[in-house]
Amino acid sequence: MPTGSSVLRKASSVADFSAKGSPEQYMAVALAEARLAAERGEVPIGAVLVDGAGQIIAQNGNRTIELCDPGAHAEMLVLRQAGRLRGNYRLPDTTLYVTLEPCVMCAGALVHARVSRLVYGAVDPKGGGVVSLFQVGQDTRLNHLLAVEGGLLAEESGTLLKDFFRQRRRGGKEG
Ligand SMILES: [Zn+2]
Repeated sequence: MPTGSSVLRKASSVADFSAKGSPEQYMAVALAEARLAAERGEVPIGAVLVDGAGQIIAQNGNRTIELCDPGAHAEMLVLRQAGRLRGNYRLPDTTLYVTLEPCVMCAGALVHARVSRLVYGAVDPKGGGVVSLFQVGQDTRLNHLLAVEGGLLAEESGTLLKDFFRQRRRGGKEG
């Protein structure tokens, strides 16, 4: 299934902001990627990178199992894809939407990529690297700061994760 297409092209009837979608719309795209990840048996987390004009540059979901790659988190895949598309590992003037608070690795990559803004869904008290356990992106010792907003469509993201793990536990017992 091809990813990276601009799902928002059809949904841009929303109002005065020309082609720009709303934060909820971008997060809905990230949630759709998370659901696709669950269908592949991956932890359901999805991410979308949007440029300053509101265009989606890249979108993807977790693929750590598929790619045998501990670094293949949704955020990393999206940053790599966007970097290749732009021919530059730095991605200034972009916003990353992700369904769950990023881990330390992904938060670090967002800093390296100079992403301007991060919007996440559910908070991750056990592994979050942006607000929960660490505050990567808001630590002035690093040379780039991230604007961070959390809680967008958090319930949908959280439910998706809970259902996935509940189902997996049940499957494990039966199998
Ligand atoms: Zn991560």
